[in-house]
Amino acid sequence: MSFIEVVGAKIDTRHYINGERVASEQTFTNTSPIDGTFLGEIARGDAAEVNAAVAAAKAAFPAWAKLGPKGRGVLLHKLADLVEANIETLAQLETMDNGSLLRSHRRGVMPRVAMNIRFFADYAMNDLHHPEFETRGHTNVVSWDPSGVCAIITPWNAPLMLATWRIGPALASGDTVVLKPAEWTPLSASFFADLTKQAGIPDGVFNVVQGYGREAGAALVSHPDIARIAFTGSVPTAKTIARAAAENLTPISFELGGKSPLVIFEDSDLELAAELAVEQYDNAGQVCLSGTRILVHESIVEAFSAKFAERAAKIVQGDPRDEATQIGPQIHQVHFDRVKGFVDRAKEEGANIIIGGEPNTELGGLYFKPTLVLEPTAGSEIVTKEIFGPVLNLQTFKTEAEAVQMANDTEYGLAAVVVTGNRERAERVTADLVAGTIWVNCFFVRDLRAPFGGSKKSGIGREGGVWSFDFYADVKNTVFSPNGWKE
Ligand code: NAD
Repeated sequence: MSFIEVVGAKIDTRHYINGERVASEQTFTNTSPIDGTFLGEIARGDAAEVNAAVAAAKAAFPAWAKLGPKGRGVLLHKLADLVEANIETLAQLETMDNGSLLRSHRRGVMPRVAMNIRFFADYAMNDLHHPEFETRGHTNVVSWDPSGVCAIITPWNAPLMLATWRIGPALASGDTVVLKPAEWTPLSASFFADLTKQAGIPDGVFNVVQGYGREAGAALVSHPDIARIAFTGSVPTAKTIARAAAENLTPISFELGGKSPLVIFEDSDLELAAELAVEQYDNAGQVCLSGTRILVHESIVEAFSAKFAERAAKIVQGDPRDEATQIGPQIHQVHFDRVKGFVDRAKEEGANIIIGGEPNTELGGLYFKPTLVLEPTAGSEIVTKEIFGPVLNLQTFKTEAEAVQMANDTEYGLAAVVVTGNRERAERVTADLVAGTIWVNCFFVRDLRAPFGGSKKSGIGREGGVWSFDFYADVKNTVFSPNGWKE
């Protein structure tokens, strides 16, 4: 069966290669995390499908590259228009597939998907500067050439948002793309492929190969005709991909995990601090940027905890399609078991779990209660490992220096949140924190012009604005001599 019907949308379960749908003999089963509903059997690609997709992307590359930013921009704007026209379908589809809130997809995520395409198309046309400068009478001219076929590999926690955050700049740069979506969330990518066709994006410019990471993903990242690998996912997978990329010296851009601190000083607005802390449960904790390590000054820990508990008690967990729901399910049984395993082991070690700490048995299935672990043992796995579920921990500090030391005491460096009423302190502390993004008295404000990425094990490289083009384009410097001209 090549099609499944999900929320009234007809989804092709095959790959999208060279503008056509291609089946695989093998399939894998896709279910909804909301209630385990069987959604369909999806094509399970391997090296053969990857080779076909890369060959198609390679063949389509010269014409796409020659089209230039303006020619590509026209088509990319059409694609963004189509995403906007289909926001309701995309939102419903993504919610069925990954269990995130429908209202967030409708109002925030899917409009952002369109923006990911529009912004980078516009940036390539209007904002990408081609600096020229003189060296002893010679003129240097910098250009941003397309680089070739780009492999994009994405996770399941924000499938189309994270895919288009890479697809947008890759296509705007003049690269062609082979996307391998996460196997737990294959649907929105398949629907998106139909939109690229409708927008008139030439065949072969954008391709989707569905399948498992160890099969389709591994074949893609080790392919010698790949010019760029953009990967968003976990650190262990990144290490495997880096080894494969090393073989061909393929440039990589990695956006990986985190264990970000949320530092709350004694001079904070406590209501704001509690509000920001509860926000770290968003997407049922399945957010790479989450400030899961709450660090609170010891003098306000009781007052803060009371306000936090008051807000946490009001969190509505349930079906992500309901308007009132704030937290939905975990993505998959395997992931649910992993999250639960962390909490169970912490309990066995005597951790003080002051809220949650167990599955939500009223809802059953994959719903795990928002959890807070108080003063976990320093160095224990609940403090050091990325859990990627609704599990926060709270530790106290005595001095600003200790807060900075604890915040930086992690192998990750994706983000940090600082809550303080004192500007000088904010400047001092943010200067000393090691993280790709720091929010002061706020969370999740993301501007596509800003650099985004992780320090330490949280990633390699930065994207956003000109940083995206720095990666996807082949940056070239041409030096024109003042001598040797005949005319
Ligand atoms: P994952 O690493 O298990 O999988 C990510 C993707 O890699 C999937 O498409 C998977 O099929 C593929 N893959 C797996 N093995 C592969 C291989 N050998 N070769 C090629 N591809 C392979 O990650 P996940 O569980 O899907 O996502 C959660 C992780 O992603 C968390 O660590 C989270 O922090 C991180 N993440 C980071 C960001 C960011 O922007 N920094 C954003 C979202 C998620």
